[in-house]
Amino acid sequence: MVAAIWYSASSQAGNQVHGMAGHGASETATAASADPRIGDVLAKWWGFDRLRPLQAEAIQAALDGRDSLVVMPTGGGKSLCYQLPPLVGGTTDVVVSPLVALMKDQVDALEAIGYPAAAIHSGMSQEEREQVRDRLAAGELRLLFAAPERLVNTGLLDLLARVGVKRFSIDEAHCISQWGHDFRPEYRQLALLRERFPQASVHAFTATATPRVRDDIAAQLSLRAPELLVGTFDRPNLCYRVVPRADRTAQTLEVLGRHRGEASIVYCISRRETESLAARLAAEGILARPYHAGLDARQRHATQEAFAHETIDVVVATVAFGMGIDRSDVRLVLHTSLPKSLEAYQQETGRAGRDGLAAECVLLYSSADVFSWESLVRKSAEESDLEPDEIARLIAGQTEHLHAMRRYAQAARCRHAALSEYFGQSYGTAPCNACDVCLGETENLPDSTVVAQKIISCVARVGERFGVRHVAEVLRGSKTEGIQRHGHDRLSTFGLLAALDQRAVENLAHQLLDQGLLARTGGDRPVVTLNDRSWEVLRGARDVVLLEPRAGRTKATKADVDDWRGVDRDLFERLRLKPAWTIFDDKALRGIARDKPTSPAGLLRVKGIGERRLADFGAAILDIVAGKEPAA
Ligand code: ADP
Ligand code: ZN
Repeated sequence: MVAAIWYSASSQAGNQVHGMAGHGASETATAASADPRIGDVLAKWWGFDRLRPLQAEAIQAALDGRDSLVVMPTGGGKSLCYQLPPLVGGTTDVVVSPLVALMKDQVDALEAIGYPAAAIHSGMSQEEREQVRDRLAAGELRLLFAAPERLVNTGLLDLLARVGVKRFSIDEAHCISQWGHDFRPEYRQLALLRERFPQASVHAFTATATPRVRDDIAAQLSLRAPELLVGTFDRPNLCYRVVPRADRTAQTLEVLGRHRGEASIVYCISRRETESLAARLAAEGILARPYHAGLDARQRHATQEAFAHETIDVVVATVAFGMGIDRSDVRLVLHTSLPKSLEAYQQETGRAGRDGLAAECVLLYSSADVFSWESLVRKSAEESDLEPDEIARLIAGQTEHLHAMRRYAQAARCRHAALSEYFGQSYGTAPCNACDVCLGETENLPDSTVVAQKIISCVARVGERFGVRHVAEVLRGSKTEGIQRHGHDRLSTFGLLAALDQRAVENLAHQLLDQGLLARTGGDRPVVTLNDRSWEVLRGARDVVLLEPRAGRTKATKADVDDWRGVDRDLFERLRLKPAWTIFDDKALRGIARDKPTSPAGLLRVKGIGERRLADFGAAILDIVAGKEPAA
């Protein structure tokens, strides 16, 4: 059972362009004009010493009441752009968010720093909702979170008009676009905001970068000459690796071994896989749990909470897991199967290292996944109630996304450069020092050309009538029933690669398919065939480079080393052991373990410690730094 949901474009509505005048006018704004109050609020409430790129511009646009469209990768710090402005002017602002879990996480985090925020959603009792409305009417709230349908359908807008709301922020704004990868029809109703609140400014936030989606957002929300702020998509603290998949479980264990006791997300495609893999990891003593859309809401919630509160380290999940995660210290995102697009990959890996510290993203790649996705794309499109030409377009579009993903996995070039360029940003040619290719970890198989010749000739010997598995079995010399029935144990290629295991041989065959050195038929039972290039290899007219089909050795990245410089690791571990302190991210704790402050003033100088946290935890932290057990 596949849990990933393919977006199907059932809506015919509007790709007509309106209200686009001036869209895209200014890619850069000057931060010089920035309000000095911004820095004060930032230090006092969040304990941050500076804004990240584009945050200043986005916040200034909000303060000036100019519409904006902010495109920043996941983890770039979009939320601060709408959380900070209402504190400066004492206004009540509204944030539209697609998921209850997302809203709750943000409200919890804001309440922890004493920020007056609330969400209003269907999971609350009538009474709780009344309470929020009362606080709203009394002008107590700086920020109100709501889902689009609740915002426009419940008379809430009348109340917002009465309290004089002047600013709306639309989070995950790509949900409004049918060209996005996550269309939500209810977002379309937000067009109403402009009509009902002509005086208010509207600010859209998304991590989806394609120009078509951006234009659609601006048009659907009728943004007025929006300030377009596009962030850098590269995440320099993430180290990307692609490893040919040979043994999913063994490789997962190996990668997790580098992240003992650290927050990790392992993505699988099917629900069944998440459960069996989580059970295997648990059997190895790893604190892991599965997560997928087939579990009931209570179980899902319990797992999310356990992960958020660090009672488990690893979540083995389908892509259903992620939207609501606000754990900034995820050190590993491991994909055991190919994601369906680079957009999805960027978003899922974006959950790693949101605290800015080094984190690792590993993709276990097998081209077998491309075949599975292709047949799934076809099946789900054909089963939809779309017109034939729409089906064809849907299949073509999704296949295009899939092949961009495949090319990324196969290319032996810098991963940072490949990702940046896909998202329309040039990266340069200098080695990134944070990907398997630049670190020189990708290992070529010795005698690749000879091995390729063995595989290709075996495909020829079995008459180009069998799939990858059978061909690999023949090469390995397996005496399966099928091989004996066809007399394939008498072929000259029988047992030629007996030294390798079945998965490795299959992986090598898939690499040849990926490079176009073998072909295959379509359909449910694809058969491997030869093409012109296969013959060139057999004739010795073409050299082949194959990657060693197992996890390569990995090196420490520069970021890894820098992030730990001067940090007292024992002290860091002692600080981390405080369960009630999960609200501190690793960066703040490492800062403490590096600076070892002896006074409240010193503690306040550590990034991530604001006045509220100083008041709540200062004494206890200073006790631990001084080597004493804190009282509470
Ligand atoms: P996004 O919504 O863009 O995915 P978030 O708003 O969740 O990203 O921010 C990601 C992380 O970065 C959070 O842990 C947040 O506290 C932190 N962060 C945001 N802005 C700053 C800043 N100016 N200085 C330090 N940390 C920041
Ligand atoms: Zn690189």
